[in-house]
Amino acid sequence: MGQNDRVIENNQPTPQEQLKFLKHIQQILQSGTFTSTYKFALLMSITRLAIEQGQDTGAALRLDYLDIAEKFIDLYWKQSLPFQFSQYEPFIIQQSTGRQAKVISEIQKAQQQFKTIAAARRDSVFWLKLRKSVASTVKQMPVVYLQNLNGQTVEFLYSLEESKQSLKLFPKVMYCLRQFSEIIEELCQKRWIDFVRLNKQNLIVLDGLPDLDEFMFAPSRNQLGQVADFLIDLQQCQCFYCGKSLKNSKYAVDHFIPWSLYPADTGHNFVLVDEKCNSQKSNYLASEHFLQQWLERNHLHDQAITREISQLGFLTDLQRSHRVADWAYKQAIENEYLVWLGGKDKKILTQGY
Ligand SMILES: [Zn+2]
Repeated sequence: MGQNDRVIENNQPTPQEQLKFLKHIQQILQSGTFTSTYKFALLMSITRLAIEQGQDTGAALRLDYLDIAEKFIDLYWKQSLPFQFSQYEPFIIQQSTGRQAKVISEIQKAQQQFKTIAAARRDSVFWLKLRKSVASTVKQMPVVYLQNLNGQTVEFLYSLEESKQSLKLFPKVMYCLRQFSEIIEELCQKRWIDFVRLNKQNLIVLDGLPDLDEFMFAPSRNQLGQVADFLIDLQQCQCFYCGKSLKNSKYAVDHFIPWSLYPADTGHNFVLVDEKCNSQKSNYLASEHFLQQWLERNHLHDQAITREISQLGFLTDLQRSHRVADWAYKQAIENEYLVWLGGKDKKILTQGY
């Protein structure tokens, strides 16, 4: 980061403003007036979009409702499938205290027609229709109620009046969402799980079950086999990190920007690695050397990656992936994260990497 960047960034919120923002988020999540899990999904969706579409400035950001809807479908798809919890019949989680939430019913209809979210996304006409319908629910329900703190509306994220065509985040909100994304994700997931667990309609089946967060929020492994088939050719059967041959070893698809940091699948983020590197890299960011290698690979093979991996149904957009990476490495520098150097070595990432 140079001197010039400092000048551009001068509309950033003050530490006091950032703290107040975080307190507001906490109040939203503690408010006991939820009747569905939409609010969690909305907060997570706008946070992820602030990373994908925004930058580290105090500027306002406009979000398309169709993009928010896409994130909603991503979040709810797996949770809308029947799941075999212990000795009970396959059970679908109730996401609302009353009738099943509308978005869930719509996703369930889609699931009767398409086996995977990837297949649904490939049918562009169907996919747009589903997004439009989810977008309209999002606009009418959680967008209206999200900023209700125990009965009182406090507009600190966006103004409803200005958000008819697209959701317009107030200045400084994008910055705070990007800054606190890991905290917001974790708080939302915890509260979401609590809501589902305590919902009377789920209580009998879910009471005491330990693996709920795995089912609700872990990445889906469904399509990764096919991603691996493509990557093994692209990488000429070599581990992305250590370069050793994958011929006689087990391999895995790794999220280059770790899932723990940014829990969404994007096509360019996948690399194929051997078992050893996979377990050693674990949840760490890879060092700047690997970052360069990843950026180069993506530029060089952008067309093939986009064509092949989007065909498997993943969102595949070079710009979007690289903006997420920019955000992640900036966070790592500011917060002195350890990065993985290969093998057993790690170091703290510093400025000017
Ligand atoms: Zn390796």
